[in-house]
Amino acid sequence: MSSAARKIDQYFEEVDCLLCGSDASVPATPVMPDTDIYGEAEQPYRDMRFQYVSCTQCGTVYLRRRICQQELDYFYNNEYHCYQSYDERGFIFKHLALAVTRGKIRTLAQLFPGDNRVLLDYGCGAGIWLELLRRGGVDWRLIGTEVNPRSIEAVHELGLEGYLCDEDTLQQHVAANSVGVIHLFHVIEHLPDPVGALRKLAEVLEPGGAIYGQTPNIDAWDCKLFGQYWSQWHVPRHLVLYTPDTLRRHAEAAGLEVHSISNSLSSATGWANSLEKWWALRRGNNFMPSSSRLYPYLTLAAIPLTLVQQVFSSTGNIDFVFTKPGGAAR
Ligand SMILES: [Zn+2]
Repeated sequence: MSSAARKIDQYFEEVDCLLCGSDASVPATPVMPDTDIYGEAEQPYRDMRFQYVSCTQCGTVYLRRRICQQELDYFYNNEYHCYQSYDERGFIFKHLALAVTRGKIRTLAQLFPGDNRVLLDYGCGAGIWLELLRRGGVDWRLIGTEVNPRSIEAVHELGLEGYLCDEDTLQQHVAANSVGVIHLFHVIEHLPDPVGALRKLAEVLEPGGAIYGQTPNIDAWDCKLFGQYWSQWHVPRHLVLYTPDTLRRHAEAAGLEVHSISNSLSSATGWANSLEKWWALRRGNNFMPSSSRLYPYLTLAAIPLTLVQQVFSSTGNIDFVFTKPGGAAR
């Protein structure tokens, strides 16, 4: 957890730039409410508003005034979409997930250093990816960690190895230099001190091991087009939002080598969600991410758009591979 956070009141704290430490910033977005809660938010959360700022020194976009970590639980209720399995999301997503899993297994298999076959899914939610990897037939040791007790219960119910911990307590469960690959999907944007967390994650990696992840990209067409209706702001849960450039600098600041930062076809889901968010909010309705009957079809329809976007720009999600220095050449 960032030690530089200054408490404002029971609910809010303020931080300086999490990359360079500068306190100078300009607004990067309008002031926005949380739109992604399921059902009606309670007070005082319903009236809370959030605004991303851009650091004038290094360009990092972050929530300078943010919810205190202990108050964030309210926003991570168990309806939160990453806790929902792909089976529950219907036929199209079930089959898309299987296809994506096959590709992911091929990618991950190439990232293990030497004969290490230990994979840590850091911020594993209810174990959805771990379960998909297991169904995909991998014989790796699969470990999940989460900060949410309900999620870890769900991981255990699946018969998977999982621990309730954050980056500060990770080594109570996972030994230093023992992990081959860390899977970090849509997690880095939630971390209160991303550079510090990347350093701690690197400690459990074997030298030459890799962090393979994905995060939203605020330098994407869909972000600029949808503005405040872009689905991936996700206030107040996303604490930092990256461009390929600021992501690279965060990794380097943590002492990692940047192996790749690349576009992702999965960004089609971002187009679908942004369109639904725009439609719902313009009509005064609640927006529930990834939940409508149209959502799978909108996602399919957005795949060609995402292919074009990959050619001319970078996509709304970016994939990254960072490696821990010191291993044998891969
Ligand atoms: Zn900065």
